[in-house]
Amino acid sequence: MIRTEPAYEAAVGTGLLREAGARTAELVRGRSVLIASDERVAGLYLDRVRQSYADAGFRTAEFIFPAGEGSKTLAVAERMLEAAAEADLTRSDVFAALGGGVTGDLTGLAAALYQRGVDFVQLPTTLLAMGDASVGGKTAVNLDSGKNLCGVFHQPRLVLCDTGTLATRDPPGLAEGRAEVIQHGALSGGGLLDRIRAGEKPAALIADNIRFKSEIVGQDEKEHGLRQLLNFGHTFGHALEKLNHYAIFHGEGVSVGMLMAARTAEAGGLCPEGVYRELRELLYGQGLPVTTRFTAAQVAEAALHDKKRRGDRLTLVLPEMRGRCRLVPVPAADLAKLTACCDGEVTGL
Ligand code: NAD
Repeated sequence: MIRTEPAYEAAVGTGLLREAGARTAELVRGRSVLIASDERVAGLYLDRVRQSYADAGFRTAEFIFPAGEGSKTLAVAERMLEAAAEADLTRSDVFAALGGGVTGDLTGLAAALYQRGVDFVQLPTTLLAMGDASVGGKTAVNLDSGKNLCGVFHQPRLVLCDTGTLATRDPPGLAEGRAEVIQHGALSGGGLLDRIRAGEKPAALIADNIRFKSEIVGQDEKEHGLRQLLNFGHTFGHALEKLNHYAIFHGEGVSVGMLMAARTAEAGGLCPEGVYRELRELLYGQGLPVTTRFTAAQVAEAALHDKKRRGDRLTLVLPEMRGRCRLVPVPAADLAKLTACCDGEVTGL
């Protein structure tokens, strides 16, 4: 249960897509649903979800868009809103986001905007979306100036993680979801790190990830403080995504971003040695990148456009020990100098 206002359930298991209709019907008054999905996921799972809603008495409409980060734009969100209007959805009806984090972020935003806000449910189909993006109510699209710069908080009414869908993910796609699992491990006291070390598959840890994230979101829904910790690896990660013109996966950026943060913390004497090395081993072991050809100065420059920047200061999330991070405000002007220690180890390679 995610204790926001209102609270909602996040269920994990195989075959849950077939329950989407019945479970949604218990929560919303309307009986029309707009199922939003990208072309790839729709080809795999739309029939199943459409049938589930039809069986539960819903009138269904669909909005299908090209797969990939490039669809996370206001223009696509607008087309989704038009599709909802053409399907005569009312304020008591519901949007269903069937797909990865792109679909969830885009659909959540459209649902928040449609007629000043309608319900939506998350039906995540990637590891990243299951363990992280589908829970917590952050919705967004990208602007030319940067990632996720346009969005609102809008909590879903329900999250159904059908782990059976992970079977159709390709290996690089699965690997990148593991970055967020390891990220939660680096924040949640070390227990998750031990379990990954012991060989447990990250996909088996989805429920623990959701539990951890929901504890934080329940205490700080709108990211005034504690929730900022979940940005560990993201300031540099987003910068790397931007430098790569979004041709890398989000999780790949986060992987290298966490290592930059850990290296910076160790070099600055903010955390004991060994934290960086362990993270590097775990990320590498999960098939994630641990270096970037961009220099620390280039990453720092790109990071200065991060939306979390407040005036001339930037809040970095840096490890302070194994399994624990803290927020460290730094002057924007010092970022390149502070991260220079990454060159030759993580960056510039
Ligand atoms: P994605 O939604 O683009 O999915 C990645 C690719 O996998 C797509 O091509 C998709 O078609 C395909 N795919 C999805 N499910 C599949 C399946 N079961 N089988 C086969 N192919 C499948 O990307 P993502 O990695 O899931 O999410 C990344 C996005 O999530 C980014 O935009 C990021 O900003 C966002 N995000 C949001 C939050 C949040 O709190 N809202 C948190 C983390 C990340």
